[in-house]
Amino acid sequence: MKGRVHLRELLSEHTVAAAAELVRAEADGSVHCMACGHRCHVRPGKAGVCLMRFNRDGELRVPGGYVSSLAIDPIEKKPFYHVLPGADALSFGMLGCNFHCEFCQNWVTSQALRDERAGAPPSQFCTAEQVVQAAVDHDVRIITSTYNEPLITSEWSAEIFRLASAEGILCGYVSNGHATPEVLEFLRPCMSLMNIDLKCFDADKYKRLGGRFEAVTDTIRRAHEMGLWVEIITLVVPGFNDGDDELRQIADFIASVSPDIPWHCTAYRPMYKSSEPTATPSSTLARAYERGKAAGLAHVYSGNLPGMVGETEHTDCPGCGTRLIERRGFQVSANRLVGSACPDCGAEIAGRFVLAGTDVGRPSTFPRSVDL
Ligand code: SF4
Repeated sequence: MKGRVHLRELLSEHTVAAAAELVRAEADGSVHCMACGHRCHVRPGKAGVCLMRFNRDGELRVPGGYVSSLAIDPIEKKPFYHVLPGADALSFGMLGCNFHCEFCQNWVTSQALRDERAGAPPSQFCTAEQVVQAAVDHDVRIITSTYNEPLITSEWSAEIFRLASAEGILCGYVSNGHATPEVLEFLRPCMSLMNIDLKCFDADKYKRLGGRFEAVTDTIRRAHEMGLWVEIITLVVPGFNDGDDELRQIADFIASVSPDIPWHCTAYRPMYKSSEPTATPSSTLARAYERGKAAGLAHVYSGNLPGMVGETEHTDCPGCGTRLIERRGFQVSANRLVGSACPDCGAEIAGRFVLAGTDVGRPSTFPRSVDL
């Protein structure tokens, strides 16, 4: 308990005022936060559901000026499979989340202030300029906000992304997608990538995890319509979302937004408070793959079981079927794309495969933490 109080005080010292676009003040001193789908009404002295944004004397204070972790690793790890294949990405995270999933794979950072076993302190206090300079110094062309839920720290991300965009760096979120139209509009000028976690296709289950199902599906549709490059991930958890009907519903929904959106079905490992003791077998990912292809999705990928999922880690041309990108885990071993086109039939593959003046080079084999 004492550690949590200390962390709360520490984090409250590293805040900025919320962006005007993401808050509405009321005459009684309370504020409405619009950074995520909870749309919290926060009274003076109180915090929102995420516990990271709080009302101090009628002002919404939000996180800024620190990272919980900062590392360079392959873009495939986010995962983005249709963004500069094989490129390094600089990833940063803060602390906290607007959900409380029992199977969270990042709970040590996401459940800070909610669970006293979580909440490793910030690893580095820094400026946005320092984070972007680290990307420039390491010749990294992509920056992602990940590790915790980035929507709740959107002001900090936007500050970094604005500077990074000026350097020609692609910027993106790895998010649970529990967003609002306001926060997407706020991010739109400086963000071009979004990996969204569609955890299941059931409103009651989403409630259990701490969110609203419609907020997530609305975000997926809106982000795609806005022109962001969207990839979807589903952690397939035995007994939670691995039924044929649910996998089919998820796949049908993604296809209804666009059949070109890649769907990553990844294997779960028992983690945090999960009641399910069994890891996801490759046969379940194979079923998800079949549902995705039957729905008409051009690109379905199996993740977290490198080398154990047959051909489903690779990218094949939806036009002629030829193999375009070969992967094993996060490593790209071959990329035959010419720009963003198939060299055999000329079909254009959806994604962000080209960035002017960029030679992405060889990706990191292991994450490299970055000291500022
Ligand atoms: S980010 Fe979401 S959970 Fe946090 S205060 Fe704002 S609306 Fe509430």
